This record gives sequence, C-alpha cells and structure tokens, in this order.
Amino acid sequence: MERKMVKLEDTGLTFETEVDLERLKGLALGWLEAIGEDPAREGLRKTPERVAKAWAFLTRGYRQNLKEIVNEAVFQAEGSELVVVKGIEFYSMCEHHLLPFFGQVHIGYIPDGKILGLSKFARIVDMFARRLQVQERLAVQIAEAIQEVLSPRGVGVVIEGVHLCMMMRGVEKQHSRTTTSAMLGVFREDQKTREEFLSLIR
Ligand SMILES: [Zn+2]
Repeated sequence: MERKMVKLEDTGLTFETEVDLERLKGLALGWLEAIGEDPAREGLRKTPERVAKAWAFLTRGYRQNLKEIVNEAVFQAEGSELVVVKGIEFYSMCEHHLLPFFGQVHIGYIPDGKILGLSKFARIVDMFARRLQVQERLAVQIAEAIQEVLSPRGVGVVIEGVHLCMMMRGVEKQHSRTTTSAMLGVFREDQKTREEFLSLIR
C-alpha cells in the first residue's frame, strides 16, 4: 500500500502511514449517521477526517518493527545485576470495545552480556501499545520482544492499566485498575528474582 505523510493539526505531529484514510473517513461518517448524528452539522463536518488521522496514529504500531526500533542500541555489558525501568507511560485501545486503556509499564531484566539503551524500552512499549490490544497480551509481547533482542537471563513485565471500556460502561468500577504481568526465564523460575523485581517497582 502507498505510504503518505499525515499531519495532526492540533498536535502538530507528522507521521507516515499506509492506512487507507479515505476509507476510514467514509466509515467514520457512517458511524456518525448510525448513532443518529448529523455529519453535516458544523461541529462534525471535519470529524471523519480527524478520526481517520487519529486512528492512523493510534494504530501505527502495526507498521513498526522491532529491528528498526532497536537499531544499534544494543550494547555489550559485563555483570548480571537486575536492571529495572519503571513507569513507562502507555496508551492503547482495547480490542473488544475500541476504547482506550492506559497506564504504566514496568520492565526488569537480568542481562547476559547485552543491555539496551534506556529510551528504547519506551519505544518497544509504544510499538505494541499502538495497536488493538488486551492488557495481558501487551505484557507478553513486550517481554518476548526484550527476550528476542537481548537474550537476557530473564525478563519481567508488569502493567498497571486503567480501562475506559470498564469505567465508562459502568462495569467493575472498583476494579478498574488492572495489573497484568509476564515473566520469562529466571523471573519465572526463581522466586527471589521475581520478588526483588516486584519490590523495586512497588
Ligand atoms: Zn474493552
């Protein structure tokens, strides 16, 4: 598919996308009609275009790949101390309702000769978050990506998320903050390692 540059007028952000914006625009217009709105009224006239661009941005993770993102930020390193990257912000869309969920990702790993530049963890999180997701799978995909890139002795990922699909629809209000995790290697096998990680992110 053809790639074109898109500019989000309100944020000034420019990005390249292969998303079929014309098709998305048409669907957004139909969506407005289906909920009983009048797409021709003043406030909605530019909405289908805005929605199309916003969704191209919100799903841009589908069109990124790990190799491009990590790109030469893997370094050789001695030592096998636990490395923890705390509080990486994420924004994602739940695949069941197409409503946002968002929160923080905490990552820990024990290197085995290789480490990754700190800023890359946020890029990896973003690549998987900017897709339709469920929080459980998001944690697993982030853990497996770090496993693939660094082959560490172990990796742990904990995600704390707030789900608008639950809060706005009035379900499980009191449990709207959801915690999920994925543990690989020594994080799975060794309780002490796992506990050290969990106590550091608490
Ligand atoms: Zn949902």
